[in-house]
Amino acid sequence: KQFNDLPLNEDLKRALSSLNYEKPTEVQAKVIPLALQKEDLVVKSQTGSGKTAAFGIPLCELVEWEENKPQVLILTPTRELAVQVKQDITNIGRFKRIKATAVYGKSPFDKQKLELKQKSHVVVGTPGRVLDHIEKGTLILDKVKYLVIDEADEMLNMGFIDQVESIIKEVPKDRVTMLFSATLPDDIKNLSHKYMKTPTQIEV
Ligand code: AMP
Repeated sequence: KQFNDLPLNEDLKRALSSLNYEKPTEVQAKVIPLALQKEDLVVKSQTGSGKTAAFGIPLCELVEWEENKPQVLILTPTRELAVQVKQDITNIGRFKRIKATAVYGKSPFDKQKLELKQKSHVVVGTPGRVLDHIEKGTLILDKVKYLVIDEADEMLNMGFIDQVESIIKEVPKDRVTMLFSATLPDDIKNLSHKYMKTPTQIEV
């Protein structure tokens, strides 16, 4: 199966072909159709499997361009991953003119605050800085419809799980949640039971 066989907007198909993505990877083939149907998903997959585009492609499809407030919040354990995910979303959403913003620690708060003031469809960030922006009122979550927790087991290893939980509580309940993790320890399973709507589990 090729990307052309999936129900995706022409703008996205054009971007995927410009990135030389022809065929979905295994995780993409499993995740994209379910994500497009707005199912909650727990996905066990490794880095390098194409997991970023597995959530990036359906999210770029589902985002409504006209909405001015963020519709997608993606949490990552590290600044490097936040920047990478922002770049991947920007590339996939290029022809739909999707705007993604990354927020992370050890980087000027006010510069990020200004960026968040501009229209951002997608916000990607590390938990501490995302919480900072929520608390200072510079990140408004009332229009968020899609929440992605990327590398959940790394968040746990790095001691971010309580912050992740605090953030989840701030996101409107009427949303889709996707959790990606290389391993599924009990703390991650508990998080999914507590905050997700009977998620479909996918393993690759
Ligand atoms: P990730 O697992 O998201 O870090 O992706 C690993 C690498 O695979 C990245 O360099 C992506 O640009 C690339 N990639 C993702 N999906 C595809 C695809 N369908 N075809 C070719 N390359 C891809």
